[in-house]
Amino acid sequence: MSKMQAAKAHMEVLRMAEEEPITVKTYKEIQDAALGSVRDLSSGLQDRLRSSLKYRMVSQSQAAPAEKAYYLWHQAGGTSAQPSFDAASTRAVLYNQAAAARQLEAFLQVSRVTIFELCQTAIRTFEAHEMAAFYMTIRGLVERIANVAALADALQDFSHATPSPDKPNEPLLLAAGKIGKALYGTKFDWGKLRNADLRAAKKDDVAYVRKELSMDVAARSVLTSIDKLDKRVRGARIAYEVLCEFLHPNVGDLYSATACATSHSDRLGTRHVTRELGLGPKDFSTSFDLVAIMSQVLSICCEVFRLLPSVLAELDANSRKAEEMAKSFAHIVRSNYKPLFRKDDLCPCLSGLTVRKCR
Ligand SMILES: [Zn+2]
Repeated sequence: MSKMQAAKAHMEVLRMAEEEPITVKTYKEIQDAALGSVRDLSSGLQDRLRSSLKYRMVSQSQAAPAEKAYYLWHQAGGTSAQPSFDAASTRAVLYNQAAAARQLEAFLQVSRVTIFELCQTAIRTFEAHEMAAFYMTIRGLVERIANVAALADALQDFSHATPSPDKPNEPLLLAAGKIGKALYGTKFDWGKLRNADLRAAKKDDVAYVRKELSMDVAARSVLTSIDKLDKRVRGARIAYEVLCEFLHPNVGDLYSATACATSHSDRLGTRHVTRELGLGPKDFSTSFDLVAIMSQVLSICCEVFRLLPSVLAELDANSRKAEEMAKSFAHIVRSNYKPLFRKDDLCPCLSGLTVRKCR
């Protein structure tokens, strides 16, 4: 056998039916369990998605200059004359104090929407025997759940914080960067991207670069969240990386396009292997290695899916706490800045209610 032949034989790692007893029942059970937990996940999310959420904010470009000026003034000891801005900018700063609470609420809704839609796609692609798309979707689900769990971890300090009466929203302001990044994390400067000729631009021309004294929204590597998830669910990192083999144009495409694989030994005992590649149902039952590997991957994914309700509940509790803090602060502010907030203006807590109605 030439070196090249040996290498090719090595690449064809899947063992065939004649070598080991069939474990297809176990694999089918694991597939059914995975699909069952995807269905549970999606029906659990459905209730909270019956109505949409109005995510309210004020113009960040309007708030930013005054926010920076106030920050610098405060950093310098606050002894010089307080910076002054027009009423619109000052109000934008005050409304913006509630931004983190609204962003956390929005992050939860966005996560629920995305995870629900991925669940629906996973069910559809599985039923249509589109295995590459199925595994890509499962991978997407693991990523999203990892991100939700990472924010729950990052807000541990916030969840235990007790605000002082004179600074009721201080813990929220301290957590704001983590919340903002979870919702707005990006690799691009979307303003530059909008105006760029993508055929002529270089990657760095449109890359996100944090501006001084602004919120840092540089997307973290998803692997950071996956590694954290691995601490909660052992094996999550490797399972995720195996699923990456199905997202990227790697060997996962060959495995998922295999309708069935068979082998037979000829008269001198040489084993011949045939893969039938095509659309339609995929029968993994003769590919023992793949069955063994994907069984583990799917059972780890099931554990990840089961984690979601508890981390969502943790973040829901944080969201209610953030809401209370934003409200307490904003309702003090509206009585301290009476000329800026009339009864029929929107309340500075960004509830969407008027000052008169927001209690
Ligand atoms: Zn209010």
